[in-house]
Amino acid sequence: MTVQTQLLIDGVFGPAASGATFDTLNPTDGSVLAAVACAAVADVDRAVAAARRAFDAGIWSGMQPFLRGKILRAIAEGIRARAPEIAQLETRNGGKTIANSANEVESAANVFEYYAGAMDKFFGDTIPMGAGVLDFTLREPLGVVAAITPWNFPFLAAAWKVAPALAAGCTVLLKPASVTPLTALVLGDIALKAGVPAGVLNIIPGPGALLGEHLARHPGIDKISFTGETATGSKLLKWGADDVKRITLELGGKSPNIIFADADIAKAARQAVMAAFGNAGQSCSARTRIFIERSAADAFLEAFTAATRAVRLGDPLDPATEIGPLVSRAQWASVDAYVKLGVAEGCTLVTGGARPAGLESGTWYAPTILSQAANTMRVAQEEIFGPVVVVIAFDTEADAVRMANDSPYGLNGSVWTRDIGRAMRVARAVRTGMISVNSHGSASRYGFLAPFGGYRKSGLGRELGMHSLALYTEVKNVFVDLEA
Ligand code: NDP
Repeated sequence: MTVQTQLLIDGVFGPAASGATFDTLNPTDGSVLAAVACAAVADVDRAVAAARRAFDAGIWSGMQPFLRGKILRAIAEGIRARAPEIAQLETRNGGKTIANSANEVESAANVFEYYAGAMDKFFGDTIPMGAGVLDFTLREPLGVVAAITPWNFPFLAAAWKVAPALAAGCTVLLKPASVTPLTALVLGDIALKAGVPAGVLNIIPGPGALLGEHLARHPGIDKISFTGETATGSKLLKWGADDVKRITLELGGKSPNIIFADADIAKAARQAVMAAFGNAGQSCSARTRIFIERSAADAFLEAFTAATRAVRLGDPLDPATEIGPLVSRAQWASVDAYVKLGVAEGCTLVTGGARPAGLESGTWYAPTILSQAANTMRVAQEEIFGPVVVVIAFDTEADAVRMANDSPYGLNGSVWTRDIGRAMRVARAVRTGMISVNSHGSASRYGFLAPFGGYRKSGLGRELGMHSLALYTEVKNVFVDLEA
């Protein structure tokens, strides 16, 4: 497999102006996977100039939406044609299981297909102002978008941003996370072959800490679309404020999983495992705070612990593996420190809390349950971004809702009960952008049909669905005096 490692600027893959590169690793053994061209400010400026030229010339924004749609559909087909290769690369670079990577690649193709069909069905309005006036709105592409993506869903997160931005007629600079830059570059290759004109999609791996402020303050960029840490999102918001830059933020989460005693406890316990530990817990939607009604707490914990211990950890390229290693040594150390903190705060370590036996060399971390937790503890308030869950007992519905909402975050959540009235009450009362009833399904394979995003420190704006398309466009009102 030839791995693309160069920057994509103005339709051409090439080195950084300085010639600099950085190594990207395979987290299963720490070996170097590839040396990737490392963008600096000069490369960003070149990419912005290319994206600006392409946008202002109207070669993309002025194209009939139906024809842009055909090109997006060709990207979806290009992704499917190379799906096994992309999934392998995603797994080798980020450590996620091959089954997860394959699902995410298919889901990314679906996202392009969805927006391919959406762009010519996204209408303005006519506003009734009486016989002498015609008043209507236009949806205009926003301009040049800087998309900054994380390492936990590298290819999928790129699709979530690039597909609606291109669909809306915007041009894009994509800056992938430095630990997982490779599949974004494959997307660039596929887009070029599908017919995306030069300058419309530019891909610039490089250090976010050095490029972020430059991107956010750049007068040539109209919008930032970011997924990552809340602190980084907050900085981007401040840097972009002087120019009133448009911004969409997908940030952290500490999502509650509220389980009432009348629920199917066996099913809730089984599903709580992947809801918390899927993708090795490196997911913003992970249900990492389990609130269990006290009368069912013992039965739940017993079933949940057994199901957690049965999870298969191992080589992420093995199709039977359910949890791979964490993305990096730094992430491993941070997760381990949180588990030690939880024990020091008074939690009981039920299972996990160490490297799994037989997997001593890479960055695997055993799925970890901390029980007897209190919602005020740091392990219950801060995003750990690893396979660690806290279990907290509650007595009443009001208690469960109060604790679920006592969090700086508000991304996702679940409620388990057979009482439909209670399910609806709790779904409304929990202050999160998404919530699932008797399921953790909101981020499933067809989740792209619905809006994704959070309240409070979990973000700003929504991705996916038609909501996302709205956020890559401006609304213009046109007033016509018919009697002039
Ligand atoms: P970051 O927010 O630092 O990284 C996410 C993306 O932002 C990467 O592309 C990164 O580039 C870029 N970036 C880093 N610094 C800046 C900056 N100053 N301005 C603009 N962009 C920047 O998250 P981390 O990767 O460091 O992960 C830290 C924590 O963030 C995780 O442990 C987790 O808690 C949370 N997180 C949440 C995610 C989510 O899905 N909501 C996804 C990823 C992380 P580069 O890789 O070059 O640093």
